[in-house]
Amino acid sequence: MANDEASSLWSATIKGMTGSCPRCGRGKLFKGLLDVAPACNKCGLDFKFIDTGDGPAVFVTLIAGLAVLGLALWAELRYEPPIWVHLVIFLPMTLIVCIGLLRPTKGLLIAMQYRNEAEEGRLEN
Ligand SMILES: [Zn+2]
Repeated sequence: MANDEASSLWSATIKGMTGSCPRCGRGKLFKGLLDVAPACNKCGLDFKFIDTGDGPAVFVTLIAGLAVLGLALWAELRYEPPIWVHLVIFLPMTLIVCIGLLRPTKGLLIAMQYRNEAEEGRLEN
């Protein structure tokens, strides 16, 4: 049982991070860099249920901020480079890390939303 659960979680993680359909894993989830397609082009799953909100941006900001700021601080303490070196290295690094992480993070959150059947909370009548 626990092995099936881990396998299912791993499978959902791979589908999400590769931008594949959370149900079949063969269709494309995105139609652009971050725009979600209206439906899966293989199994027809309607992607209207998807609502990641600001989740991907929050995670990417926290991860990239920690990584890039940590490297910048380490470089400053270790080598004391001039400010232009920081600008030349760490500004592009910030952009690359953020843009590189956004799509897999969004795909991962969508896959987890699908796997866990997460939806907006409602009050019972
Ligand atoms: Zn599909």
